Amino acid sequence: MTTTIENPLLDFTGLPRFDAIKPEHVTPAIDELLVQAGAVVKKLETAQEPVTWNSFNELEDAGERAGRAWGIVGHLNNVVDTPELRAVYNENQPKVTEFWTEVSQNEVLFAKYKELRASAEFATLSPARQRIVDNAIRDFRMGGAELPQAQKERFAAIQEEHAAVSTRFSENVLDATNDWKLLVESEAELAGLPDDVKAAAKALAEKDGKQGWLFTLHFPSYYPILQFADSRALREKVYRANATKASELGEVFSEREKWDNSGNIVTLLKLRAEEAQLLGYKNFAEVSLVPKMAQSPEHVIAFLEDLAKRARPYAEKDLAELTAFAHQHLALTNLQAWDLPYASEKLQQHQYAFSAQEVKQYFPEHKVVDGLFKLVQSLFGVTIAPDDAPVWHKDVRFFRIERDGQLVGQFYLDLYARPGKNSGAWMDDARSRRVDSGRLQTPVAYLTCNFTEPAVIDGKAQPALFTHDEVITLFHEFGHGLHHMLTTVEELGVSGIAGVEWDAVELPSQFMENFCWEWDVLAHMTSHVKTGEPLPRALYDKMLAAKNFQSGLQTLRQVEFSLLDMHLHYDYEPASGKAVQEVIDDVRRKFSVIVPPAFNRFQNSFGHIFAGGYAAGYYSYKWAEVLSADAYAAFEEAAQLDGGKLSTATGEKFLREILSVGGSRPALESFTAFRGREPQIDALLRHSGMAA
Ligand SMILES: [Zn+2]
Repeated sequence: MTTTIENPLLDFTGLPRFDAIKPEHVTPAIDELLVQAGAVVKKLETAQEPVTWNSFNELEDAGERAGRAWGIVGHLNNVVDTPELRAVYNENQPKVTEFWTEVSQNEVLFAKYKELRASAEFATLSPARQRIVDNAIRDFRMGGAELPQAQKERFAAIQEEHAAVSTRFSENVLDATNDWKLLVESEAELAGLPDDVKAAAKALAEKDGKQGWLFTLHFPSYYPILQFADSRALREKVYRANATKASELGEVFSEREKWDNSGNIVTLLKLRAEEAQLLGYKNFAEVSLVPKMAQSPEHVIAFLEDLAKRARPYAEKDLAELTAFAHQHLALTNLQAWDLPYASEKLQQHQYAFSAQEVKQYFPEHKVVDGLFKLVQSLFGVTIAPDDAPVWHKDVRFFRIERDGQLVGQFYLDLYARPGKNSGAWMDDARSRRVDSGRLQTPVAYLTCNFTEPAVIDGKAQPALFTHDEVITLFHEFGHGLHHMLTTVEELGVSGIAGVEWDAVELPSQFMENFCWEWDVLAHMTSHVKTGEPLPRALYDKMLAAKNFQSGLQTLRQVEFSLLDMHLHYDYEPASGKAVQEVIDDVRRKFSVIVPPAFNRFQNSFGHIFAGGYAAGYYSYKWAEVLSADAYAAFEEAAQLDGGKLSTATGEKFLREILSVGGSRPALESFTAFRGREPQIDALLRHSGMAA
């Protein structure tokens, strides 16, 4: 039995004790913290005295401790996965989820928040505290807590059925994807495919006990065929299979009916419409937007239509260029959907070919990380220096950020891929900023990437070399990190990223990406690993042209997905009997330049909106791009006035109005305070090469 004192997961005095934490500490720590938090909830439920802001203090503390300990366990599970750790993680996760679900549905707590909202004290609370109370009430209300009993039961039944149907939706997609296989027996049919793609297909066939090359509908397997296969017939076969996946037209070898998602789509839309009605909204799009930055579905639709209108001439130009190229160089007339990725790949090579391998030689790790730190230091008036902390792996580094000699925040930097570490890149919080009884707790972040580790050649370690995409990823995650660490908010519930509307969360991260395309920044951030030369201008120009390749078509495609997502949840009535396909066709007729073949059923595997959290929210990808591009344009405008120099005054303003306020006020208010006006789409169009 481990006692409280001995269990490092129960030590909240400083940084996580990664040198001491072991899998056997997890269950006793989580059990104890949940018992403590449960007791606090009980105490609050039975308290007789009038509610004040301070009534919730103990709950906040207990919740923070449980969240921090569980956050450490989740982090370790992500970065140093071992069978022992995974077992205790999986063993504890249901308890943790159940605890928070119960809290979020606790009606006594809901009543207490409403009592505080109605009290005389509320008007005296700081705006940050008021926002925490309002957010809490909003979440309870949107969770159905305010409904009369009978409707509450129906609401719960809707949630349950919705969860089951969305799970079925994604299972159908997965099963249909796994079931479809294409065995190619003659290598001649694979002409055009890169060797590594062929090798993977051959290995897959061997695993299946077959001769030849085997392809599936998993993206890395089928997409190279669309992109590279010279055989038009092969491309068509694969396109058709993918575009009809999990539909009534699906080409699978068994249980085809069962995997058709058409009915599930209608059921999900009906359930959402009913939920909206119960909560007192006109449609589900309104429900989706309640916790978001965008003001109304009408506003989102107008934004998307405007973007479509302005991108359209560029999309038409892209298509005309592609058509002419395919005709001239590939002898392809009458371009079909299955020709587009193939012809585009050839056109891109023809026009903008450069080697990613060559670019990589200019981005050694130390130069990139130094460049990033220097940029952040000069933009936001901070210093970044190495610091000490226990870590979970020898490659992990730890840093501190100071401003005016005061500690502001700290972060772990775990850059390289290794076995047992989850793929991808992300920022997570180890600890958030708060001021409690006059004591300041500074924020701590985990910055995790999966880049290639330094190579060892002839026993000598070479610097790690990053691709330009990896550099962008690092800047992106660092942007999230800055949002978390440079906050000056004192209340946990809205400090850093907490409480920020989720269609605004990507603003600081995508904002930071822009610097990776800034010539002056790149010139100082690159140094050829052998010659020490900075990135040549000619190579940079090619990279930029490749970035904006077909941006008109790509923008229009994203807008099309966003618009049909909005319309399905805004003015489509699933009970009317009108087919979902008609809504999609309407959007395409009005806005698209490329109309897919009539058999295309991409919606039947559109997991973002039918099995993920993006219903009436797909627009947020473009929305966040608009915000970040427009914010970045403030720096471009200031530089123009200031002879090309990076404006520290603009950096200070970005820090003051956006990074430091976190979720303590509406994102639109923060953006407007920074920019002096509401967001405009011009900068995004310009950055994507779509400006007159
Ligand atoms: Zn992000």
